[in-house]
Amino acid sequence: MNRKILIVEDESDLAAIIADYVIAAGFAAEVIADGKAALASIRRAMPDLIVLDLMLPGLDGLALCRAVREFSDVPILMLTARIEEVDRLLGLEAGADDYVCKPFSPRELVARIKTILRRAGGAAASGPLMQVDESARAIRVGSQWLDLTPSEYNVLAVMAKRPGTAFSRAQLLDIARSDNLEVNDRAIDTHIKNLRRKLATVLPDVEVIHSIYGLGYRVDL
Ligand code: CA
Repeated sequence: MNRKILIVEDESDLAAIIADYVIAAGFAAEVIADGKAALASIRRAMPDLIVLDLMLPGLDGLALCRAVREFSDVPILMLTARIEEVDRLLGLEAGADDYVCKPFSPRELVARIKTILRRAGGAAASGPLMQVDESARAIRVGSQWLDLTPSEYNVLAVMAKRPGTAFSRAQLLDIARSDNLEVNDRAIDTHIKNLRRKLATVLPDVEVIHSIYGLGYRVDL
């Protein structure tokens, strides 16, 4: 049985596109446009993951997320057009697992769904997992530790903890600088280049760090 993704989104064109991509990735998809109807459906038959739009008729995404959290830990990926909502969505108030800001690429959304399901499924997931050891400030891929500079560690650790999430150069610059190290703007590209080279020594056939044109980078595993 394919795992079922419930898409709660009232923009029917967008919902159809998401459903197409979700099905192409090997999942089953169901679309519901109304918050109240979605809650009733979730109570009847629990999906494996819920893609939940924030602005909905019936019951909005935040209220629906809270209502679901009263009886289930099902992974919830919120869609929002408002970046300022993100803290509330992910915080205790709503309890979403992750978010994607509109407009987004359906491909990125599917990557995020896979990551959340893998996380929810525990460490038994297939594929080489990158592990961040914060106390040792070290990163392991499989059984191999990467030999990283402090700035490289800062950048990769943050990206590895949010796979599928796009980080701008400016964000990464702040992250690299968090130890008050001297880092200039161009240095981010140099760090990424070095990180790719180091990752390639342990994962020769996998592109771990992806460039996002005009924006920055993201990690996919
Ligand atoms: Ca909407």
